[in-house]
Amino acid sequence: MAIVANRKRVLVTGGAGFLGSHLCERLLAEGCDVICADNFYSGAKDNIAHLIGNPHFELIRHDVTFPLYVEVDQIYNLACPASPIHYQRDPVQTTKTSVHGAINMLGLAKRVKARILQASTSEVYGDPEVHPQREDYWGHVNPIGIRSCYDEGKRCAETLFFDYHRQHHLDVRVMRIFNTYGPRMHPNDGRVVSNFIVQALKNQDITIYGDGNQTRSFQYVDDLIEGMVRLMENDAGLIGPVNIGNPGEFTIKALAEKVLRLIPESKSQLVFKPLPSDDPTQRKPDIALAREKLGWEPHVGLDDGLSRTIAYFRQVL
Ligand code: NAD
Ligand code: UDP
Repeated sequence: MAIVANRKRVLVTGGAGFLGSHLCERLLAEGCDVICADNFYSGAKDNIAHLIGNPHFELIRHDVTFPLYVEVDQIYNLACPASPIHYQRDPVQTTKTSVHGAINMLGLAKRVKARILQASTSEVYGDPEVHPQREDYWGHVNPIGIRSCYDEGKRCAETLFFDYHRQHHLDVRVMRIFNTYGPRMHPNDGRVVSNFIVQALKNQDITIYGDGNQTRSFQYVDDLIEGMVRLMENDAGLIGPVNIGNPGEFTIKALAEKVLRLIPESKSQLVFKPLPSDDPTQRKPDIALAREKLGWEPHVGLDDGLSRTIAYFRQVL
């Protein structure tokens, strides 16, 4: 094995989650020393079990609402439950994770002079009145609804990142991630892609919330990780916020029909359930900024990405 001189030391908070585990893999493949900090609230040791034993990978059980002291060059701050079921289960903890977690990780970055990237979200746009969403849109967010713990927590974290940058000259990056799917999504985490695939594979009813005409734009995990690393490594002064998502926009009903077409043996039927409150009507990223400044765009289309994700769930179920 080639010895990499001066390995970059990278902290990934939320590294045992869906996205974090893919990021840890990618960073190890690039020759970094990776510290994964996670409290396993919505992540799982199974996601990173294959990395344990790699001498360049360290796992710390840690809750980011408490300070952490490690010497690193870069911090990717992903710790936060991302699915509505998970983030609404303990909403006070969700806000604390975003806000106290950001303060603690920004404090660490300041102390050790690390570059720090925040995994923000398209949820900062709320139920958007501007379509597609550009980074200069301020959003349309209910501050007191059931999604607010997540949306407002993430918005406040963005504020903290920009204030640390202005006040303390911290080297920050903020990315706004749009709905991302792929292998290692938790089978029960309630997000639409995993729900529909699991339901179809188990011949259970496919639960469409509302009339299914609401839209989302689905991005495959590999495209997201590429955008994330490009933003972190960008030295041309791009701080963000930067949208990273796939502009292909689909109704939820169309997604359900696609999943059923890709699992032809499924006997599942579409059923319609009440729409949760504050569920955004439409969502689609404008990715002109990422295209121009990062030379990034997604490459995996929905059919291809769904097929790969279905293959994963066939194995784990
Ligand atoms: P996930 O739930 O699989 O991963 C989140 C990880 O953070 C889990 O491993 C969880 O145990 C950990 N965590 C939660 N609270 C913590 C705390 N207090 N201290 C330490 N660890 C904690 O979700 P994901 O889809 O991998 O999302 C990762 C990040 O990306 C989140 O910040 C999420 O808001 C953001 N994001 C994801 C999406 C998406 O579609 N997947 C979209 C927008 C933003
Ligand atoms: N959704 C659905 N059935 C499900 C899970 C979700 O119809 O079993 C809908 C949900 O109401 C929303 C969309 O799918 O309109 C995306 O939901 P998800 O929780 O994946 O992401 P988010 O709403 O945070 O974008």
